[in-house]
Amino acid sequence: MARTRPETGRLVEVVRTCVGCRQRADKTTLVRVVAVQESTTVVVTPDLHGTLPGRGAHLHPTARCLELATRRKAFGRALRVEGPLDLSALSAVVEDPGPTD
Ligand SMILES: [Zn+2]
Repeated sequence: MARTRPETGRLVEVVRTCVGCRQRADKTTLVRVVAVQESTTVVVTPDLHGTLPGRGAHLHPTARCLELATRRKAFGRALRVEGPLDLSALSAVVEDPGPTD
């Protein structure tokens, strides 16, 4: 989906690829995440207001896409970071997957 920016008449691309399921989706249905370095850990931080600087990745805010992205180590690739990733902040904004046992 795209919309026209009135002042320029140019099409604005608002489709992003989910790093979990790899499907393209309207940006507004995805949550943007950025990597925030905290001592030795990289915290994958949800950018809920679109204000955090740096390289971002996009994900459906669902447990399934979070799991897919985690399993594929997609965050490290998409955010160009290495080492342990703290996904707790992101998990907190993702749909509750329900009981896992
Ligand atoms: Zn997805």
